[in-house]
This record gives sequence, C-alpha cells and structure tokens, in this order.
Amino acid sequence: MPELPEVETVKRTLKNFVLNCKITNIIVRYPNIIDGQTEEFIHSLVGKTIQDIDRVGKYLIFLLEDTAFLSHLRMEGKYNLKQKGYVYSKHDHIIFELDNGQVLCYHDTRKFGRMQLVDRNDYHYQLPLSKLGPEPMDAQLQEVYPLIHKSSLPIKTLLLDQTIMAGIGNIYANEICFHMAMNPKTAGKALSKKRVQQLIDISSEVLLKAIDQGGTTIHSFDSNGINGLFQVSLMVHTKKVCPICQGEITKEMVHQRGTYYCKKCQKRRG
Ligand SMILES: [Zn+2]
Repeated sequence: MPELPEVETVKRTLKNFVLNCKITNIIVRYPNIIDGQTEEFIHSLVGKTIQDIDRVGKYLIFLLEDTAFLSHLRMEGKYNLKQKGYVYSKHDHIIFELDNGQVLCYHDTRKFGRMQLVDRNDYHYQLPLSKLGPEPMDAQLQEVYPLIHKSSLPIKTLLLDQTIMAGIGNIYANEICFHMAMNPKTAGKALSKKRVQQLIDISSEVLLKAIDQGGTTIHSFDSNGINGLFQVSLMVHTKKVCPICQGEITKEMVHQRGTYYCKKCQKRRG
C-alpha cells in the first residue's frame, strides 16, 4: 500500500505530465470507485483544466478551476498515462481524456481506491481530510502527546492511526519503531513527552528520506504506470537479519498487521 512518500512521488510525477491539461471527457468503467454521483463527477470535471495537484496524508487532491477531487490509491491503485486510442485493460476503471491527446487511466486491480469531489477552497476542512491528524513534518508535541499518552494500544498501531499523525502505513511504522530502538508492542501511555517528541522527529526523518529516495528513483511513468512504490533502503520491514546486531528479525502480527522487529536492538518499552 502506498504511504505518504509514495503518494508524494505519484503527485510529483503526475504534476510533470498533466498540469495545465484540460479534461475533455471522462469514462467511468467501474462507478464504485467514485464516492457520490458519477454523473455529477463527470459533469463537474469535463472542460476543466488541472491547475495543480496537492497531497494530504495519503490523499491526492486534483485542483481544477472551480472544483477539486480527491483520489486515494488504497492497496493497488495507480495512474497510467497513455496515448488516445490505447486499448484499456480490464483494471482501468476511470479514464480521463486530456486535450493534449493523452489519456490518464486510473488502474486498480483490487478496486479499493476511491475518488470524490470536494470543495476546492476548503477541502482541508471537509471529510475525509478533516479527520486526519498532522503529518509528522508538521506535528506539534502538544497535539500528538495527549493522544499517545491516553492509549494502551501498541505504539505500532498508534502510528497507523491517521487521526493522530497522517501518512504512515505498515512499512514505515515498522521502520520508525526500529529507529526508536523500541518494541513495537510498547503501549502508547509508556512514552514520555521526550520520547513522543523523538517519535515525531524520527517519523518525519524516515518519511523525508523515503521521499528523497522516490525522487531519485522515479522520474516518469514506466510501462506499468505509477503507484509510487520504489525500492527504499529499509532496515527491518520484511528483513530476516538485523543490520545492526546481525541477529534474527522477529515477525509477529500486531493488530492484524505484519510487524518486524529485532528483539535485541528494540528492547525499549518506552
Ligand atoms: Zn538487532
């Protein structure tokens, strides 16, 4: 599943190719991707120019003259840019025809992705974005600490809670716990203010480093389109051997999510 750095990479790549393109037609092949009325979605966007693309957490926001729409890729969503006349695959669900002869195809094998019209001027304050916490790069201790402090849930699970901090998914949650030298099952309430500040700082560093890596590996759409997934240098997620102590990495399920950690290097319980 794409997390904040991957969605940021999709945003930057899309901006290089579709900014200032006018949408001349939209073909909806699987209406359930769209939250709301399909006709309204099409009617609001056709004839409008893509002026900018924003990102909040794991959401992309396409900004047009007087309207906007959100796109969440969920598990498998990705965008392809093709020439008009291209034969659509069965997983191309929403097709945006552009005035430069290209088509932007939203492709999603699992069909979990969603798009939704939002108000261009205050989408930050509308659902679903209004529920999101700050991104780690913008997070303040006084906002985040009370939410962590009141919870008995494992820190790994709290990192995935988009209402506390937005943008972190399973991969980076594992990586952040590793950099904290902390057992991922540590209860939120065991963290001091100082440790929560470290959690914010490390989360921010891990995400920013991944954005940098995405920026250096992905420059364009390849033949498979762009989902933002790239090879980041991970320390612990899906690893077998700890890069610090060379010991074995433990894999356990924590609240149904695959959790990787080193029992020797991640001993801290707060
Ligand atoms: Zn280790």
